[in-house]
Amino acid sequence: MTETVDAPSATRIPHWIGGRRVEGGSGRSGPVYNPATGRQTGAVDFATAEEVDAAVQAARGAFPAWRETSLAKRAELFFRIRELLHARRGELAEVLTREHGKVLSDALGEVTRGLEVVEHCCGIPTLIKGEHSEQASTGLDVYSIRQPLGVVAGITPFNFPAMVPMWMWAPAIACGNCFVLKPSEKDPSTSLWVAELLKEAGLPDGVFNVVMGDRLAVDALLEHPDVAAISFVGSTPIARYVYEQATASGKRCQALGGAKNHMIVLPDADVNAAADAAISAGYGSAGERCMAVSMVVAVGDVAQPLVDAIRERIPKVKVGDGMDPASEMGPLVTAEHRDKVASYVENAPGEGATVVVDGREGVPEEGFFLNPSLLDDVTPEMKAYVDEIFGPVLGVTRVATYEEAVRLVNESPYGNGVAIFTRDGGAARQFQFDVQAGMVGVNVPIPVPVAYYSFGGWKSSLFGDRHVNGPEAIDFYTRGKVVTSRWPDPATSKIDLGFPQTR
Ligand code: NAD
Repeated sequence: MTETVDAPSATRIPHWIGGRRVEGGSGRSGPVYNPATGRQTGAVDFATAEEVDAAVQAARGAFPAWRETSLAKRAELFFRIRELLHARRGELAEVLTREHGKVLSDALGEVTRGLEVVEHCCGIPTLIKGEHSEQASTGLDVYSIRQPLGVVAGITPFNFPAMVPMWMWAPAIACGNCFVLKPSEKDPSTSLWVAELLKEAGLPDGVFNVVMGDRLAVDALLEHPDVAAISFVGSTPIARYVYEQATASGKRCQALGGAKNHMIVLPDADVNAAADAAISAGYGSAGERCMAVSMVVAVGDVAQPLVDAIRERIPKVKVGDGMDPASEMGPLVTAEHRDKVASYVENAPGEGATVVVDGREGVPEEGFFLNPSLLDDVTPEMKAYVDEIFGPVLGVTRVATYEEAVRLVNESPYGNGVAIFTRDGGAARQFQFDVQAGMVGVNVPIPVPVAYYSFGGWKSSLFGDRHVNGPEAIDFYTRGKVVTSRWPDPATSKIDLGFPQTR
């Protein structure tokens, strides 16, 4: 049976401020579960505004010395972080699986993709380089430099508790900022684990801080006058709220929101390869990925063979405890979320969709499990089409033409990831030209770019004008400054009230 009360044996999960664990004093906390058993394993402290301020002040205090730390030393430290993370990635994956529920191999994949960001940041001396124009005018040089912002904060979702924070703290700190992280209250332990690893690697106290909490902690960060920038990843309504509040307080903000990712399958595609991709990208991590495929758009007569091929594969997906190496798909993060996801399957027939596979059948009694579901004949006005279900429910929409498929994607309020499956290079090229989304896959169902390219969606999948990772992360976490310099012979000095000209 699932316990939902505060368990007396639950581990307390505190804040990390100024290089040490700090127990919260608010008297408020949230339950943390092992989703595979449904039992509460932890109680995470919820910060007060004063505790958020303590974390910001720790970051502020550490900033002058950290900013002065040479690029060579910062790079050396990042190499040490990389080595430690690489050596202990299995341990981190286990911490993650126990609170999130995703299977261990998937957790290890998440950590490895996060590690890519850290590896990218080892190159900070090159990434942060400015430009120099000698002799822009006679005897006059112009050059640009990029400087850190100061204290920056990250607010992160439950579904990638290790990787998404790495998208933020790694480039922010490498650029010379000090960082305050507010992780998801559903799976907070990975952030504490990382905090301890960063200390072990030699990161000075106060450069990386973690405040645990809920909306109160988020609001305290959004309103704090000493926080210069906010990075947010989470659902669209909260992303919009965070962006509006942060920018109203004069902060720089990038807020990545939710998604509804389409996978278009053209009639010439290899049906088996497309079905394998739909299964992997639809049910991997139990569909709790912002880049998960949630709608398969089958064009023309590929639809029936494709639905048959997906249906045949579903019973072979091994659902179970993420710690069991045989499991391919774990539970959902909470009982409440599992029930919400299941409601889309329950309501599908009433909306006119066909339930081809009902994932509510045959689930274990313990834990927050739901098996993979497949809905066919889903149309754009249905809730199963409109909402980001964020669970193992794959919908199929049947359309007659390529143009209809692209129109569906472009009319979606989201624009995170999208994929096309085809053997026609010309069609794929046209698709990348036509489609309104930030990340496009050609025969790649989850087109998460490598860390040296920037990651982010369009439309309601991103508020702000800077994506995460790659060159845009360096831009986001720094301010540009341009220096115009001349070293004239004082003998040539004269007064000139005209506007300076370069010719
Ligand atoms: P969420 O929006 O519920 O929570 C995200 C963060 O916001 C958490 O730290 C949470 O504590 C905080 N928060 C929640 N409610 C709040 C409120 N009312 N006021 C202020 N802060 C609040 O998201 P989630 O359920 O943790 O994560 C899943 C969502 O994140 C999905 O929509 C998914 O698509 C999205 N996501 C997007 C990306 C991307 O790159 N675009 C990546 C990962 C996840």
